[in-house]
Amino acid sequence: MWLAGAGPGDPGLLTLHALHGLRHADVVVYDALVDPGVLALAGSGAELEYAGKRGGRPSPKQPNISRRLVGYARDGKRVLRLKGGDPFVFGRGGEEGLALVEAGVPFRIIPGISAGLGGLAYAGIPLTHRTVNSAVTFVTGHGTTGAVPDSIDWAALSRGSPVIVFYMALRRLDEIRARLMDNGRLSDEPVAVVSAATTGDQHVLETTLGFCVEDVAAAEIVAPALIVLGDVVRLRAGLDWMGALAGRVLEADPLGTRADRRTG
Ligand code: SAH
Repeated sequence: MWLAGAGPGDPGLLTLHALHGLRHADVVVYDALVDPGVLALAGSGAELEYAGKRGGRPSPKQPNISRRLVGYARDGKRVLRLKGGDPFVFGRGGEEGLALVEAGVPFRIIPGISAGLGGLAYAGIPLTHRTVNSAVTFVTGHGTTGAVPDSIDWAALSRGSPVIVFYMALRRLDEIRARLMDNGRLSDEPVAVVSAATTGDQHVLETTLGFCVEDVAAAEIVAPALIVLGDVVRLRAGLDWMGALAGRVLEADPLGTRADRRTG
C-alpha cells in the first residue's frame, strides 16, 4: 500500500514515486482534490475509486475509507491511496496510516507538494524571503466541527508569524480577519488568495487584510483556495512568472529596497 500525495493539481508536480504507484497500482483510491490529469496517468488496468469526501462537511466516511483500504490490501491488491497535496498536511494521512498499522497492513508514505508550497510558487509568492520573514506558519481555517479551530492561539500567531498561509479558510475568512486584527495585524497588510492553484483554472487575487473578505466575495472565489498574509505577497510584482509568460512586465525590485539604500 502506498499512501501518497498527488500535489496541488498540475501533474508535472507529482513525484516519481507517486507516478510509479499510479502506473503499478491495482486500485487507486483518490480524494476530491486529486486532479483528473493526475488520474489519467494511472495504468490501464487500475481501478479508480473516489473516496467520496468533500471539503467543508464533517466526514463520517473516514472509518469507511480506512476499512476499504484494509480490505483491498487483504485481497492482495496493490493499493495507491492518493491524496491532494501532501498526505500529512491537513490531509488525515496520519489517521489512515494508523488504521493500517492497527490492521497490520504494511505501507509506504510518498510525500507530495503541499498546496501551500506549490500553489504559492505558481502564484509567484515565496514563502520566505531573506529581508522579509524568517518564519512561516500553515494554519487550517477549518476544524473537526467546521468552525475555526479553538486550538489556534491568535495572539501568538499574530505576533510570531510574519507570514501565515491558511488552508480551508475561505468560508471563515471574516472571523479569521477579525481575530488577526484584534491581535494587532494591520488592515493594509497584503493578502493573496490563490484558487485552483497550479491547474488551468488558477486565479490569484491580491488584496489586503482589511478588504479581503469583500474582495473575495466580489471576485466570487471558490474553493479550493489558499490565503496568504504577509509582506512576501508584495514580491509577486517581481516573481509572477506565469503572468510574465502572458506578457506581464516583472519588477526587479518589488520591495523598493534599492531606493531605500540610495536614500538611507
Ligand atoms: N493535503 C493537502 C491539503 C488538504 S486540505 C495539501 O497538502 O495541499 C484542503 C485545502 O487545501 C483546500 O481547502 C485549500 O485550502 C488547499 N488546496 C488544496 N489544493 C489546492 C489548490 N489546487 N489550490 C488552492 N488551494 C488548494
